[in-house]
Amino acid sequence: MPFSIAPMEDAEPVIVGGLQATIVWRKNNRARRVALRIDPQAGRIVITLPPRGSRQAGLALLRGHESWVAERLASLPPALVIADGNEIPVFGQPHRIVHDRGTRGGAAIETPVIRVSGHPDFLARRVRDMLRDLAFREFSAMARHMAAQFRARPAAVRIKDTHTRWGSCTADGTMMFSWRLIMAPRFVQDYVVAHETAHLRHMNHGPDFWTLVETLTPYRAEATSWLHREGPGLLRIS
Ligand SMILES: [Zn+2]
Repeated sequence: MPFSIAPMEDAEPVIVGGLQATIVWRKNNRARRVALRIDPQAGRIVITLPPRGSRQAGLALLRGHESWVAERLASLPPALVIADGNEIPVFGQPHRIVHDRGTRGGAAIETPVIRVSGHPDFLARRVRDMLRDLAFREFSAMARHMAAQFRARPAAVRIKDTHTRWGSCTADGTMMFSWRLIMAPRFVQDYVVAHETAHLRHMNHGPDFWTLVETLTPYRAEATSWLHREGPGLLRIS
């Protein structure tokens, strides 16, 4: 898949229920109607317009759901920035980010600390790169180990920064996981990896699929409710 850079955004400020907010306008040629959602990571309102949809129609939809939108925005967990002195979770455990003055750039986990050296401008990127590498090593080892239990093998494991899914698996056996999953507790990772690994055998969510998931992990229910409750918070870390 080609590497692509997100196009410039069309965003504007708006007041919703007395709160300052931001609308991000999107066009979608396949959309049938105007759609409204909250982007939990950015804490913004996203309005998608079909080819001939007008902004007035978008604003009317927003006004019609104003109290719902205001409530959702107010209840979002706070954004957390990867910066010196802040804490982010790794395997569900809080880790304080400590910037070292060393000139060589690097980041390493020394629980309960993440030590980062090099120029401070690159601190967040170094931490993210290190967590991505860790996510790759952990999740590919887990997926291989689980797949071996039913004599399957992932074709490839990739780590991405997705905002709509924690993992996926294609028909050719390529598995994808969000790097943010490395911040979740191990039982949550266990379930997400088991779920995607089970897709190596069943490309659906039928009863056989769930039976296989449950032979691979005991954490389906707990992990699903954890992701529902805490997942949006992980999306607000950047
Ligand atoms: Zn699935």
